[in-house]
Amino acid sequence: MTKKIIIIGGGPTGLMAADVLSSKGFDVIIYERKPSFARKFLMAGRGGLNITHSEEMNSFIQKYDENSEILKPIIEQFTPQNMRDWCLDLGEETFIGSSGRVFPKSFKASPLLRAWLKRLENQGVQFKLNHDWQGWNQDKLIFNIKNGLIEVEATATLLSLGGASWPRLGADGSWVDLLKQENVEVSALRPSNCGFYVEWTDFFSQKFKGHPLKSVEISFKDRKIKGEFIVTEKGVEGGAIYSLSSSLRNEVDLNGVAQLSLDLKPDLNEAEILSRLQKPRRKMSLSNFLRKTVNLSDIAIGLLMEKLDRMKLGEYTPQQLLEHIKFYDLRLNASFPIDRAISTAGGVTFNSIDNNFMLKNKEGVFIAGEMLDWEAPTGGYLLQACMANGVCVAGGIENWIKSE
Ligand SMILES: Cc1cc2nc3c(=O)[nH]c(=O)nc-3n(C[C@H](O)[C@H](O)[C@H](O)COP(=O)(O)OP(=O)(O)OC[C@H]3O[C@@H](n4cnc5c(N)ncnc54)[C@H](O)[C@@H]3O)c2cc1C
Repeated sequence: MTKKIIIIGGGPTGLMAADVLSSKGFDVIIYERKPSFARKFLMAGRGGLNITHSEEMNSFIQKYDENSEILKPIIEQFTPQNMRDWCLDLGEETFIGSSGRVFPKSFKASPLLRAWLKRLENQGVQFKLNHDWQGWNQDKLIFNIKNGLIEVEATATLLSLGGASWPRLGADGSWVDLLKQENVEVSALRPSNCGFYVEWTDFFSQKFKGHPLKSVEISFKDRKIKGEFIVTEKGVEGGAIYSLSSSLRNEVDLNGVAQLSLDLKPDLNEAEILSRLQKPRRKMSLSNFLRKTVNLSDIAIGLLMEKLDRMKLGEYTPQQLLEHIKFYDLRLNASFPIDRAISTAGGVTFNSIDNNFMLKNKEGVFIAGEMLDWEAPTGGYLLQACMANGVCVAGGIENWIKSE
């Protein structure tokens, strides 16, 4: 039998593995359950496709937090600079945005994906769309296609099936049970880069849902983030919240609640705010007074009103107001469901795979990408790790095939 490599899951991880393996002359077939490839990658393109980050390597690696050590050798095999070169090779120049994030100049994913798929085709990769993998019959792979089930044999199989967020784009975590049946250790899939529930009053949520709270500083335990987030009908989501979401999620999982502290006016120090609040209020309403003296936005004032007793607005001292402005307690009750999260934590544990990313208890089956047990913040770190993992697992498959 000629060596046939089957990749199941045509997201950025699987496509990258296919790219490397086919460039070395291997026979590669990609099976994908959806009618087209890389739908999540295309969705990322709606935000401009933040493909990686420009910071120096040490600080880049630190962003993977407790997974840094395990991801370091992976990222080193396909660095952020390699990512930028790879984009250029496909005709997409990249640029560094003001926050250090890297984007294609077109600010889109579709031209890159088109060029990528064309290259794969030219390198002889075969595409099997609308093939939904259902597990194994002995060593044969089972796929559900329009007309029923088919069984397929492979020399090596890569599973790059993604996590469980945004399931309508294809990755829904249905592989968890299939792998558990094979005694593969999988840690529970949990939302990452996700929002959280807050008990707003109806008045506040109706008035401010969908509005951003800009230029605030949020703190949780020893971490502080300056940025913005969105108030939703039932809670909060968006950039600054996502940055802290893994520790917030762990806290709500453990204690049922996480207490976030907000500084609603981080650019003014306490003494300055206090002196402004000590000015005479005259006949101004408290809202107007806060707007005029401290320059608080409507939504920040709305937040303060959530805490204050509306019957006693005239009685709050400048010191009490200052404390609410600088140390606003926001109680988060639970994370939003995984299907709304940007990415997934948990997955196949690193203990279950060897140095080639092959399952220890299922020879010839390899795992890579978001379905492995790591997580990362937004900022380009997700795609960088997935695609670097695609490069590494291709090397792992090659090693294994050569050793057979
Ligand atoms: C809205 C949004 C915006 C994002 N923006 C960014 C960003 O700007 N920068 C960044 O770094 N990251 C971003 N991400 C995250 C990034 O897109 C993912 O981390 C990345 O796509 C994961 O790659 P993957 O190949 O491992 O999995 P996926 O991209 O999820 O691909 C898995 C593939 O497997 C297929 N599949 C699943 N099960 C089966 C089955 N049983 N049979 C056959 N096929 C199957 C799926 O259909 C899918 O095509 C964003 C995510 C979302 C949701």
